[in-house]
Amino acid sequence: MVELLEGAGQILAEPVAADRNFPPFARATRDGYAVRSADLARLPATLEIVGEIKAGADVSLQVGPAQAVSIMTGAAAPAGADAVVMVEYSSLHGKQVEISRAVKPGDNIVPAGSEAKRGERLLSPGMRMDHKAIAVAASVGRARLLVYSKPKIAVLSTGDEIVDIDAQPSAKQIRNSNSYSLAAQVHAAGGEPVILPTARDEAEELALLLRKGLESDLLLITGGVSMGKYDLVEQVLASFNATLFFTGVRIQPGRPVVFGEVRSGERGTPLFGLPGNPVSTMVTFDLFARPVMDALAGAKPQPLRFAQALLKSEFTTKTGLTRFLPAVVGGSAERPEVELIRWQGSGDLMAASRANCYIVVPPERERFAAGEPVAVLVV
Ligand code: AMP
Ligand code: MG
Repeated sequence: MVELLEGAGQILAEPVAADRNFPPFARATRDGYAVRSADLARLPATLEIVGEIKAGADVSLQVGPAQAVSIMTGAAAPAGADAVVMVEYSSLHGKQVEISRAVKPGDNIVPAGSEAKRGERLLSPGMRMDHKAIAVAASVGRARLLVYSKPKIAVLSTGDEIVDIDAQPSAKQIRNSNSYSLAAQVHAAGGEPVILPTARDEAEELALLLRKGLESDLLLITGGVSMGKYDLVEQVLASFNATLFFTGVRIQPGRPVVFGEVRSGERGTPLFGLPGNPVSTMVTFDLFARPVMDALAGAKPQPLRFAQALLKSEFTTKTGLTRFLPAVVGGSAERPEVELIRWQGSGDLMAASRANCYIVVPPERERFAAGEPVAVLVV
């Protein structure tokens, strides 16, 4: 049970229902005059103003024939009135108002209970509390919400060449960026990252840290899943009797991604071996790890968000794999455009950091012309 705002981004664990009708009263949606629409059959019409209703005012006024009530946006429409005329179509003469436009019954009034009925379910367990859901919860007076606890996601980088970000790398070493990109992705997806120390490319050390990682709800390992002599992740997983559901996917970047589970007694911990190239790590998290994380968080599975845009410039690629190429989508509503980012491949973090989407290239396609519509994955 958390304070409403703490629930933002979390997964709702209870239904949230309307505590009253929405709107609770017939609501004026414009500043103007509450009228009987029949009185405006002949225009201009002159009506007698019999009172004023501000938003929030609890007054009981009655609109009779040839009468009008001055009314503000958000106020309750008075009895007898069936429409509101916008103030823009009126001119005031003392206690009288001249109306120059007709209205239909119901114009500029939202009937009580037409948006939601008291008791109606508005939010369901399993949904992520975005700003719209927070607004709904606030509207029904929920200062506190029941949400699922955040899943703990262990992040384990591997590689002899990887050094911590506060250490000085030697000439041939590189700093650990994957643990941080993954932790940030986990955080953004509503999980709690647990960064483990980096494992050397050495079976015993890897096994030790892997065991530690299995204490979390999900373990993300990066690096060590390719075909190299020192890619030890699969070998060490075998020593844990891990079940591997898949050990590769026909995509690029990310082909060697591994998904499995280690069981011990009643408990099973799902795990991913994500390829170590920084862009591969990011893409495979988005495609495979996030949905698992969502499931562990109690969320309903969310489909990936694809869109279509027109290619700004031609490009060629190799066939055989579905490709996720870092790109920038932009343009206008009339002409959404996407431009591939020139890069050095899936190790090119600096290029990928300038992207805001991926162009999705089906395996059989090789050549793309400028102006062609292409699929884009927005993450
Ligand atoms: P691997 O998957 O272990 O073969 O690694 C592929 C590439 O990704 C190599 O160039 C590694 O140096 C690089 N790499 C692996 N792990 C990390 C990491 N944690 N941070 C940055 N780069 C990494
Ligand atoms: Mg490695």
